[in-house]
Amino acid sequence: MTGLPTVANLINGEWLRSDHERIVHHKFTGEPIAVAYDATTDMVADAVSVAHAASRSPLDPLERFEILRAVAGAIAENREQLAIDVVRESGFSLKDCLGDTDRAVQTMLTSAEEAKRIDGAVVPIQAAPGFAHRLAFTIRQPVGVVGAITPFNSPLNTVAHKIGPALAAGNAAVVKPSPFTPIAAAALCRMLLEAGLPAGLIGLVLGPGETIGRALVEDERVDFVTFTGSTATGKSISASLGMRRATMECGNVSATIVCRDANVVSAAQQCARGAFRKSGQVCTSVQRLYVHADVMDEFLDGLVAAASKLVVGDPEDPRTDIGPMISEAAAQRAEEWVDAAVEQGARVVAGGKRSGPVMTPTILVDVPSRARVLCEEAFAPVVSVVPFEDFDAAIDAVNDTPFGLQAGIFTRDLDSALTAARRLRVGGVVVNSPSSTRADLMPYGGVKDSGYGVEGPRYAIREMTEERLVLIEPAGSR
Ligand code: NAD
Repeated sequence: MTGLPTVANLINGEWLRSDHERIVHHKFTGEPIAVAYDATTDMVADAVSVAHAASRSPLDPLERFEILRAVAGAIAENREQLAIDVVRESGFSLKDCLGDTDRAVQTMLTSAEEAKRIDGAVVPIQAAPGFAHRLAFTIRQPVGVVGAITPFNSPLNTVAHKIGPALAAGNAAVVKPSPFTPIAAAALCRMLLEAGLPAGLIGLVLGPGETIGRALVEDERVDFVTFTGSTATGKSISASLGMRRATMECGNVSATIVCRDANVVSAAQQCARGAFRKSGQVCTSVQRLYVHADVMDEFLDGLVAAASKLVVGDPEDPRTDIGPMISEAAAQRAEEWVDAAVEQGARVVAGGKRSGPVMTPTILVDVPSRARVLCEEAFAPVVSVVPFEDFDAAIDAVNDTPFGLQAGIFTRDLDSALTAARRLRVGGVVVNSPSSTRADLMPYGGVKDSGYGVEGPRYAIREMTEERLVLIEPAGSR
């Protein structure tokens, strides 16, 4: 299609097209907004070859710091344009995309700072019998080539969470973004080159996961895979890696508990945002709400009132809170799940309507415990509110899923907060905020089917480096 901006593959500093054109659509209007060129598997192999060669000459930490800091500055300078690009390719509201762009600045800046803090530890080796004259310490070395696979639901900041730490750690990176959202990933790669990153250290390959993503992760020269996406894809990638290391940031059926002593008004307002932001397409989006029966009515009134104030529609309109879902098919699937829950006895107290790819913020009560909206990841603006009387039972209910990414609890009681922190089997427990709360520098990762490994630049750098022991015996000591 002529006249549209193009998104190409990046190999050794060159933007390469192919014969496989893919139209990227505006997720609200459906209009074509760009032509992306899917890579071939040969191009993937070339991108990995280049990265593999470049990874043998890692940059000094100070050089990494300066380049990543410059990219953080470039994202900030291009904030509005980047945000509008992400609005169009993802359908998320301009408010959300401006917020995500600001977060990407923080992700790159924190990665830059952490590049200067990669340290090791002294090992008290002298205490070992026969080792009194020796010295031991650990160093952290780059793994080599990081292959990054990213989902559609945070086209800029999730890519930054992969590339930033990978480069900060001294690696080369090859990224394969979601075919739904390649534009922001390409913009980030361009900024890295403009900031002076040696061309071989960053590659971009576009296309479907089943072919191009698979070719990337199955290339044995990729030393580390950092993946964010669904649990099904994560399991399939993980199974193909053998002894190679990885971080798997996968799905969740996120829950938040509201106790009787909570600030119910604030909890309802925060949970509305936590459930419906980005049309619920956030891995920690509030999908299950366990609310103490004594405050259920007050909480539900507050949640419905907050949901009814959300402006739904054109994501480019600065007043809009909730745009479309990633595709009409995704919205149809969400609608089917809501309809099925209703057939099983659930009641819709807000929303439940779909128009094309737009699903209105939907609140359900009386949901049977085995309904899909309670048991499987909805990834949609749909939340189920379940009353509880016994706190321990609420904790058990949150844990009663194969997933474990993050959970929230609203309470003024320290004991309840600490009990939740100890007993909820998740990667993170958030007190007096919903499950969806995240700052980019914090450790972030799941347990069980939500995956393994931890993000947040400081922690991702630990994942993407190899800890090596150095054991020294002074030559003249014997
Ligand atoms: P997805 O699994 O469909 O795709 C994710 C990426 O994997 C895409 O780039 C896709 O092309 C690629 N892919 C697919 N099959 C592949 C294969 N066989 N080999 C290699 N790559 C392959 O996920 P999605 O629909 O884009 O994103 C939504 C999912 O991501 C949700 O489940 C959500 O919970 C999860 N997610 C998790 C986190 C987290 O931090 N835990 C954050 C954001 C999103």
